[in-house]
Amino acid sequence: MSKDFVYGKLKNDRAQRVIPNMKKLLESAREKSKPVIYVTDTHLPTDREMALWGEHSMKGKEEAQVIDELKPGKKDYTLEKRTYSAFYETGLDPLLRDLKVDTVVITGLHTNICDRHTAADAFFRGYKIIVPEDCVDALTEKEHLEGLDYLKRIYGAEITKSKELIKKWESK
Ligand code: ZN
Repeated sequence: MSKDFVYGKLKNDRAQRVIPNMKKLLESAREKSKPVIYVTDTHLPTDREMALWGEHSMKGKEEAQVIDELKPGKKDYTLEKRTYSAFYETGLDPLLRDLKVDTVVITGLHTNICDRHTAADAFFRGYKIIVPEDCVDALTEKEHLEGLDYLKRIYGAEITKSKELIKKWESK
């Protein structure tokens, strides 16, 4: 949820929809002491994605910062990624292991791109995957729905809603 994805070069009005839901989910996770980990696009000019998407979310630029509405909290972890998957060369896997995490809740943009590649890597590494469908989105409705379907069918992701997840966390 870097500024370039929501308000900048890769902006899409659909991204707005998820912000309030993500905000509530983040607050609940922090309240319940669940680790919150941001893995944000932080590109170098030599990254392969530049040829496909043009420069976006470039390291050191304001546009690569997480949007103000979802700013990382003091106890949250922040990692940088340079391609679609949040796991690829980011140190996320050892961090999750250190935190004794067995389930990941994937949120953010986009359902059929970064979320999908992140889910693939989570699946390969044996993590259970939960995706609140109102906390992820894609550039079009079709891509979003197909993305959700793929996550469910191929990686066994549990597709839920942020409200349901919060209810489940609060009841424990
Ligand atoms: Zn990127």
